[in-house]
Amino acid sequence: MSGQTPVFDWHETLWERLQQLRRTGRLPHALLLAGLPGVGKLQLANRLAAQLLCREPGSLGACGECQACHLLDAGSHPDIRRTTPEGESRVIRIDSVRALTEFIGMKSQYGGYKIAIIHPADRMNRNAANSLLKTLEEPPEKVLLILVADRASLLPATIRSRCQQMAVAAPSREQAVSWLEAQAPELAAQAALLLPFAGGAPLRALRDAEQGVPEKLERLASQLGDTASGRLGAVDAAASWPKEDQALLLELLTYLVQQLVRNDGDGTVLTPPVHLPSRPDPLMLHGYVDYLYRTRGLSDRSLNPQLAAEDLFVRWVRLNRQAGTVRASSA
Ligand SMILES: [Zn+2]
Repeated sequence: MSGQTPVFDWHETLWERLQQLRRTGRLPHALLLAGLPGVGKLQLANRLAAQLLCREPGSLGACGECQACHLLDAGSHPDIRRTTPEGESRVIRIDSVRALTEFIGMKSQYGGYKIAIIHPADRMNRNAANSLLKTLEEPPEKVLLILVADRASLLPATIRSRCQQMAVAAPSREQAVSWLEAQAPELAAQAALLLPFAGGAPLRALRDAEQGVPEKLERLASQLGDTASGRLGAVDAAASWPKEDQALLLELLTYLVQQLVRNDGDGTVLTPPVHLPSRPDPLMLHGYVDYLYRTRGLSDRSLNPQLAAEDLFVRWVRLNRQAGTVRASSA
């Protein structure tokens, strides 16, 4: 196997479907691989691309030995092109798609497939998507465009309808845990914290583990309990989250509060548990979730990060204080 294309056992059903299409010459000219971040969509795209370019492919993928495989591993195969957001920008612009279209229009150097991978395809801006549409409408022979998207619904319907869409699902919990354990044995013990936060997506769970998510999730859970009961001040809680962790703080907080909403405000059943002085009012919790979503929608530079973090905790404390008042006055 080629070193660049790991094989994930939760892709097997999908892989078999792709193989059937390949064997019978019915591969579409455009494939849209959609699914949560961290389920290995790009790796699946790479595996298929490697197989199609390989001179001696097997049913599991590329041989890893032939000249085509060596060129691919070295990043110098002339019949494949990847389009991703360039530099600091987070969008794929029309110039990138034009270059891709030009590439697609040229003859294959090795006489086989020409492959274009667009990742993440849901980051194409409107002009870029329109430009791609023309290629999708009149695709040349032996061309495969693979669009990889976390949120396929963000793509224009005109693009989606011209692609064969395949959903890349997250594995079962057992598969995910054993894959994590194979990466690092200690991850099996953290799976209960990692996997739900990652939506069950193993590659994302692994990335999260490398960023210390389990410890940070536990820290935040205890801060939520401590600030709600007045043992910890909102400003001190906020100060423990450095600037580079602000986006993660917001994500972790949204996750925990949503769990709380789902469990009727009972924090003791969450993983990790949140020990609150009293159950927050459901309406106020919903309002807080709305506020978190609005905050996530704001541009990163619009607020002083420290003040933004304090605001999160101050509102949380206020919500819990009101919960206590509501309870006291209704008792
Ligand atoms: Zn090969």
